[in-house]
Amino acid sequence: MARKHVNDVGTKKGDLPQKTCVACGRPFTWRRKWARDWDQVRYCSDRCRDG
Ligand SMILES: [Zn+2]
Repeated sequence: MARKHVNDVGTKKGDLPQKTCVACGRPFTWRRKWARDWDQVRYCSDRCRDG
């Protein structure tokens, strides 16, 4: 019985989730420091959160 070896084509490694900052409107990418509360993250940086 021969098995075909199929590679995962089209699956990008390191394809991190993205959001749009509600303050500056720019897209930002998941960061490790947000791992615990990514659902609550709305700003790309502390600066945007303060402003
Ligand atoms: Zn921002």
